[in-house]
Amino acid sequence: MSLIPKSHPRAKSLLIREKLVSGFDSGLVAKEGLLAQGRGEAFDYLLGEKTGKSAKTAIKAAAAQILLAKLSVISVNGNIAALCPKEVVRLSKQTGSKIEVNLFYSNEKRKNAIFKELKKNGAKEILGKNSAARATLSGIDSARRIVDKNGIFAADVVIVPLEDGDRTMALRKAGKIVITFDLNPLSRTSQTANITIVDNVTRAMELLIKNCIILSKKNKKTLKTILKNFNNKKNLSENINEIKNNLTKRSRIA
Ligand code: ATP
Ligand code: MG
Repeated sequence: MSLIPKSHPRAKSLLIREKLVSGFDSGLVAKEGLLAQGRGEAFDYLLGEKTGKSAKTAIKAAAAQILLAKLSVISVNGNIAALCPKEVVRLSKQTGSKIEVNLFYSNEKRKNAIFKELKKNGAKEILGKNSAARATLSGIDSARRIVDKNGIFAADVVIVPLEDGDRTMALRKAGKIVITFDLNPLSRTSQTANITIVDNVTRAMELLIKNCIILSKKNKKTLKTILKNFNNKKNLSENINEIKNNLTKRSRIA
């Protein structure tokens, strides 16, 4: 039971924080994951803790891209398993995307806990543990270079929420189309991905599923037009302007 009253002005943010802390206590989240959340929270504050126009545009483009993919894979780490396991499973089922567990700070015990959490939330097939299916992505030093040959290795579209810049770069170099969720529009991941959703993953994942449901009724040509009209650099620049405008508003003396 949460001790945070609903009326608390920062209730939502504190509830997300609680999810991470209990995820840490139950072995899903790495210590470093808690720090990553802190970095994200700071940017969320600057965004006004809401899904902005640019994020909505990126979410729509991401949905179109996932629906057009031959093979899309959702890469799951500890923070994602703690924050939105249900949504990951729903997105996977809605779009036929595979789920693969891929950890920056690799650790078998934590990986098993993440598998268990995803299964508890309805995941049937999860990749990332079968050593017979190991393949290596070049250009990454960390354990994350080990991927599943039927998952990330074979995918044309990889969804990597809360990713590290080096790996995003390596996935791009390997020819993958990368979709990320990252609250920091300035991070290397944000700047390197093909589609960057600058929003809290806890808000945006749900919207992405909704967009996938709506766009699944459209034909390929419509989806391709949505993608053609999307420019990640331009969208990131609009996002930075949203932050600027929000700060300008907040800087006024009432
Ligand atoms: P990069 O390696 O891409 O330059 P970084 O080193 O600054 O980024 P990392 O710790 O590698 O940061 O990645 C974590 C990223 O995830 C951060 O940019 C942070 O803003 C973002 N993040 C953390 N929590 C959330 C969340 N709940 N929703 C969306 N993004 C988040
Ligand atoms: Mg990093």
